[in-house]
Order: sequence, then structure tokens, then C-alpha cells
Amino acid sequence: MKTAEGKKTRNTKHQKAVLDLLKNATKALTADEIREKFADNINKTTVYRMLDRFVEAGKIHFVTGQNGKSFYALCKSCKEDPPKHIHNHLHFQCEICGKVECLPETVKVPQLDDYEIRETQLLLIGTCKRCINTTN
Ligand SMILES: [Zn+2]
Ligand SMILES: [Zn+2]
Ligand SMILES: [Zn+2]
Repeated sequence: MKTAEGKKTRNTKHQKAVLDLLKNATKALTADEIREKFADNINKTTVYRMLDRFVEAGKIHFVTGQNGKSFYALCKSCKEDPPKHIHNHLHFQCEICGKVECLPETVKVPQLDDYEIRETQLLLIGTCKRCINTTN
């Protein structure tokens, strides 16, 4: 009984910490990067499960990067009903530093008669401003 309650409190604490982390991040984060921020030993499965739940709830979204890894970011300007909204903003991944960012630019998601669109994976690949400046 006591253990279960303790676990619940810890999970709530972790959930809040993950959301805070994403809220303050200037780039999208991978599950590994999120896990590394925790001082206590939180296992990978727990992190993935938490992220999945947040995605389902419409609190966060993800985009798959060049390396096949998922990068998570907070939903900021999503106007529609959270669990159903489809992201139409672009993402950018820098080939040099690997950083993935949400961009304010959006694209029009087409309405296709024979398909039901559930999500988008919109990724632009190139060199970020910081890397352009350091390589030149
Ligand atoms: Zn969203
Ligand atoms: Zn870069
Ligand atoms: Zn995004």
C-alpha cells in the first residue's frame, strides 16, 4: 500500500518534470536526453510510456529525425481539440549538430478523400544558424 502510493507520487513528479523540461527546452528532445536530466534512476521504458501518454493526450508531439530517433516537443500553438489535432508546423534538423527544432512556419495539410490523416512528420534538413556561423 505504502509502496504503491510512493510510486504514484514519484510518477506524478516525473510527469511534471518531463513537461517542465520540454516547456523550457529550446529544441526538441529525444527520450534519452530527457532521461539524462533525471538525477534518480528512471528507466527507459518509464520515459517512453510517459511520452506516449503525453502524445496521446495532445500535450506533446514528436517528429522522427534523420537517425530514426523520435524528437519530442511541447504543443504550444495547437488550437484544435488536443487529442485530435494534426500538426502542420515544420521541423528542422541540423545535419551538423543534430538539433531538431519546431519552426513557426506551417503547411496546409491536404484533405484526402480515401485517407484519414492522423499525424504529420514534417522535417526539413540542413544546417542551423549556429553551425553556419561556426563553419564559415
Ligand atoms: Zn500539438
Ligand atoms: Zn547545427
Ligand atoms: Zn514541433
